Amino acid sequence: MPQRNNGLEEKALRLIMESENGILQCEMWKRLGLSSREGSRLAQRLEEKGEIERDRVLYEGRWTYKLNSKRRHVSLASIKDSPCLRCDDIDRCFEGGERSPISCEYLTRWIMENSGERRRG
Ligand code: SF4
Repeated sequence: MPQRNNGLEEKALRLIMESENGILQCEMWKRLGLSSREGSRLAQRLEEKGEIERDRVLYEGRWTYKLNSKRRHVSLASIKDSPCLRCDDIDRCFEGGERSPISCEYLTRWIMENSGERRRG
């Protein structure tokens, strides 16, 4: 039942993304109303798909996993200084157009100047 699994995976991913410092695997399956075995399989699937990282941790004397999302929320703050936001050509700018983000020197320069900052932040 791929439809059901995809819905469940999305719910789990949302739960994991909403937890700022990761969520314990046991907490995830309890909150989704799953058994320990179902929760473990779900977490393994998400890890195999590259959606999450699972770190083994000792919790209340038992080994479990801490789940962290590899997806990150994107905020408007990350593009607030982008040259596109104050560009007169923005209406004519698209891939294959008169102006293009692919070849724009302003955008390229802005990305190069800010990429180190984003990696650190
Ligand atoms: S990619 Fe360049 S030309 Fe296009 S909107 Fe951004 S700054 Fe303007």
